[in-house]
Amino acid sequence: MFRQVKRRTAGRRNFEESNNKKLDYDLPKLYSCRLSFYDLPPTREITLEEFEKWAIDRLKILIEIESCNARSKSLKEIESSIRGLLLKYLPLSENQNIEERMKDHYSHYILRLVFCRTEELRKKFIKNETILFKVRYNSLQPREQQEFIELNKYKLSSWEYVTPQEKSELFDKLFASSYLMLKSHFLSGGENLTYDEVKQHVLIKENFIKLPFEKITNLVGTRSIYLHNGYGYLPTSLQLNLLSIEFQENLSLQLMKTFQTIPRLEEDDRLLPLLNNLSKSFSSFKYDTEMDPALISDINATSITSNSISKHFPLCAKHLQNNLIANSHLKYGGRQQLGLFLKGIGLNVDEAIKYWSHQFTKGGSMTVDTFNKEYKYNIRHQYGLEGARINYKPWDCSTILSKPRPNKNEYHGCPYRDFSIDKLVSSLNSMGINDQQELNSIVDDVGRHDYTIACTRVFELTHKSQIKNSQDSHINHPNLYFDRSRLLERGQNKEA
Ligand code: SF4
Repeated sequence: MFRQVKRRTAGRRNFEESNNKKLDYDLPKLYSCRLSFYDLPPTREITLEEFEKWAIDRLKILIEIESCNARSKSLKEIESSIRGLLLKYLPLSENQNIEERMKDHYSHYILRLVFCRTEELRKKFIKNETILFKVRYNSLQPREQQEFIELNKYKLSSWEYVTPQEKSELFDKLFASSYLMLKSHFLSGGENLTYDEVKQHVLIKENFIKLPFEKITNLVGTRSIYLHNGYGYLPTSLQLNLLSIEFQENLSLQLMKTFQTIPRLEEDDRLLPLLNNLSKSFSSFKYDTEMDPALISDINATSITSNSISKHFPLCAKHLQNNLIANSHLKYGGRQQLGLFLKGIGLNVDEAIKYWSHQFTKGGSMTVDTFNKEYKYNIRHQYGLEGARINYKPWDCSTILSKPRPNKNEYHGCPYRDFSIDKLVSSLNSMGINDQQELNSIVDDVGRHDYTIACTRVFELTHKSQIKNSQDSHINHPNLYFDRSRLLERGQNKEA
């Protein structure tokens, strides 16, 4: 997968000295199916840019799955949440697009390198990749599902497909034995099918396989499969369970093997920093705060304190602004966090100076002269107009969470981490979240230190009526919270 000839460094093993024979596969054959158990490692060279970009693109999808999973979404809901992301970052078209399939293959293997390092990372990777595998399996046509099984016959040697003729001969028995299981399968996915609809589904869509019954003793006990001549007959839905167990076991074994090869990579100064960064950024992808001009035309020193704008703030920004208004002051950490957030939502430097100057001097708490001498520089600095002239970006959640916790009279940080449970619950109440079960789920997220998941859950609850399934996405940046909230409102107003 990596360039075979690299910079020669004294004392370092160089790849061209290796006696290993270079393997190469016939790509159309290797990528003949959209779904894969990823048995064969990639061998073609890719650039470092592709290495990083492909890994990041796959990671974006796994992060979304992780977030959905933490919020107890069903497989069906996860499918609709990641549909857009998959199309954007990891499409796999039905026609054999080699480039797409290569990206899928390589990105999976790159992330194996990233996630093999600790037990916790391995578990996360296996869990999320298995969900991705299931989502993809469900998106295949029945014909493709069958081809996939055929292709992996060597793994699933005991699987045998029921012919259409056998299916029609045994149809009544197959249907009777699988009806209850299928009914509850659809219910868990949010579809309440009638008896006739389930029957139609079994008739048209279900492929059955037969397996020696000793292979599926756990299913025999549930009485949800048909047994005949020493074989158990399974509908497609249960096949997926068996396939995903196979996928999981295989991946778990392979991750351990990858982990053992990691020391050999330690000497590679091109890849290690990349891999380290990727594993750190599992929950902290940068949201690109590029502003839509249509969304910032009404952002100014006065409007940002109005309810029509501040209702879109996440809890961290609300907390900072409320305390700035109440105390006519914010200490340095708070000024940086709120100042850059406001810059990110479209407050320009002149309006920012007006805003901070008004807040600091209102009620005579400070003279304008003192403000100009002591604080104006700091604001101009945030906008890259002073000092090193860096155009500072708004802080994302992981940056906020990496800063020291706020001391007394400081208000920066993330309220999901820094508030006491009582204070958090009362803040959530004031945002309209009063249902005890919903409050408990948020408090549970906080207990597991999943602060961005708690924040995403709050976003969903407070925008319930506006969110459509496919608009789901994990909140990892205060400006993402703000922008999504405004876009949802705008979408709703347009529809009205
Ligand atoms: Fe702000 Fe992020 Fe905490 Fe939400 S999770 S309150 S956006 S820091």
